[in-house]
Amino acid sequence: MTPTRNTKTIRVEDGTATVNGWVQDIRNLGGISFLTLRDRYGTVQVTMPKKKIEPGLFDKLTTISRESAISVTGEVKESNQTALGLELIPTAAEIVSEAGVPLPMGVIDKVNVEMDTRLNHRFIDLRKPDVKAVFELKSLMFELISEACRKNGFTQISTPKINSSGAEGGATLFTVDYFGKEAYLAQSPQLYKQILMSSGLDRVFEISPAFRAENSHTTRHVTEFISFDGEMSWIESQDDVMSMVEIIIDYVLKGMKERGAEQLEILGKEIDVPALPYPRLTYEECLGIVRGKGLNLKDGEDLGTEGEKLVGDYMGEKGFDMYFIYEYPEEEKPFYIMEKDGTPYSYSFDLDYKGQEISSGGQREHRIDKLISRIEKKGLNPEDLEFYLEAFRYGMPSHGGWGIGTERLLVKMLDLPNIREAILFPRDVTRLSP
Ligand code: ATP
Ligand code: MG
Repeated sequence: MTPTRNTKTIRVEDGTATVNGWVQDIRNLGGISFLTLRDRYGTVQVTMPKKKIEPGLFDKLTTISRESAISVTGEVKESNQTALGLELIPTAAEIVSEAGVPLPMGVIDKVNVEMDTRLNHRFIDLRKPDVKAVFELKSLMFELISEACRKNGFTQISTPKINSSGAEGGATLFTVDYFGKEAYLAQSPQLYKQILMSSGLDRVFEISPAFRAENSHTTRHVTEFISFDGEMSWIESQDDVMSMVEIIIDYVLKGMKERGAEQLEILGKEIDVPALPYPRLTYEECLGIVRGKGLNLKDGEDLGTEGEKLVGDYMGEKGFDMYFIYEYPEEEKPFYIMEKDGTPYSYSFDLDYKGQEISSGGQREHRIDKLISRIEKKGLNPEDLEFYLEAFRYGMPSHGGWGIGTERLLVKMLDLPNIREAILFPRDVTRLSP
């Protein structure tokens, strides 16, 4: 039987082989024609000397439209003219599915296609090796995140995405009609991962979609992203959480560099792995930095996109791509964060990567009285959060955790220009399909 090979596994020693793929290009020179067949891993040249090929087959393979899905069987011959060092001389071919003409967008043409066109035809866009490489790297990133968490004693969990209340403020909640009741899509697994801290599962992580009704048109916000959340018990301070985030990110970056080498080469990118420990700046220090750069923020004011960028420039000049900013004003942070008593600050942190926030985390308020007063201070009704508060009444350990936007991490790692480059089918204010 003829073995089925791909462009990575095909060998001259095979003698004959079948390769499945898409017609990337055809060059018909009259006496000979060449078809470039592309599959997931690369391309193979199908060489057709007119005299040696059965006429019907020659015609079929020289007139088929570009990007058709085909299956070609032939002799594998050595060749010093091709990158693979071999070529396929066809003896049979099946047209699995013919591509319409014209294509909605090209695959190899060197024309700039608009992002919208690309996203509308994502399946074709992904036929480009560099676009596909990003998603192979994303897959690897998830694998590495899981590995790092398991190595550090974290249990993977899944929490509900349709909920009776939000965790991250009302402004970005998506409402769902749940059998006549109002429900919300999860903005984060925050409340559930905290409830689990009271269960004895003392280290948990989740990789799952988070939904934010974010009415913003930026290159770093979408309405659905994949969040990597972790929560750990019995911490002494938020330092324990930052140290864990650091260990995990470092493992991921090193793994990407090593195990993603092939895809990184396709993208022409290198990943710089920052040295440990990552520098830690207080929010107050950052205020000083941005003021020094001419941005006059008031005490307690959010650093904002511009402030983050200025701190990024400052740290970049010192050779630091990755750094923590900690002790944000408690007013800026959600109810579940622990206040730094006697100060306007809180035990919270962000991890910033090249001038952009990729993660927020901190120590949580595990003392029920203080938690309830924080909920009230934020203008929320503790009764709506009773299912959550219940877990704090029967022995809740000290705990803390983080949420990392996985696409933001990937975007910064690969220096991609837009978060949409890291999401197969992005959702934003104007995009709900495909
Ligand atoms: P930002 O201020 O940048 O909008 P945030 O502080 O509102 O982010 P958090 O609630 O802290 O976001 O969420 C934790 C992480 O989730 C963020 O650090 C970010 O990496 C990611 N994230 C949050 N919102 C979005 C979004 N709309 N699109 C993509 N990623 C997001
Ligand atoms: Mg944040």
